[in-house]
Amino acid sequence: MPALQSSPVTAYVAVGANLGDARQTVLDSLAALAQLPATVCTGRSRLYRTAPHEAQGPDFINAVARLSTRLCAPDLLDALQALENDAGRLRPYRHAPRTLDLDVLLYGDAQIDSSRLTVPHPRMWGRAFVLYPLADLAPDLVTAAHWTGVAGQKIEPLSESMS
Ligand code: AMP
Repeated sequence: MPALQSSPVTAYVAVGANLGDARQTVLDSLAALAQLPATVCTGRSRLYRTAPHEAQGPDFINAVARLSTRLCAPDLLDALQALENDAGRLRPYRHAPRTLDLDVLLYGDAQIDSSRLTVPHPRMWGRAFVLYPLADLAPDLVTAAHWTGVAGQKIEPLSESMS
């Protein structure tokens, strides 16, 4: 049984995929995040297409979900890794193409630095594929300096009919 927080925490989760039907995988995983125990999905960004960044293979489809969850952070990570495994995620080598990648970006205002989990996610502010969807949900979190840091990274929103 997961250990539950006494009150819900707002967490932001990055979703990315670049193998198989990546758009469908992202949509399915957004739906799955809403079904996690003790968790409500309170918003999701648009979907974006991005060129691989520190990764290989075809373009990625990316999104961010906002969760209100009573799962503690390690249990949330366990749940995300179970969804990755369900999607057939293999880790043949670092930065390999991935059917599904789920990262905890923010967990309330917690600062976590454990062997399994670093939150805020240490590389999130330098990645356009995180900042654009995060700004859909929480524009105040993304500063002008953050935008400057990702200038030049190729990213495009999918049209509404596609997303
Ligand atoms: P990846 O290959 O990108 O899915 O990285 C997964 C590894 O990163 C796992 O071993 C996690 O324990 C670790 N990790 C550290 N911080 C985080 C985070 N904030 N979100 C997801 N995974 C994390």
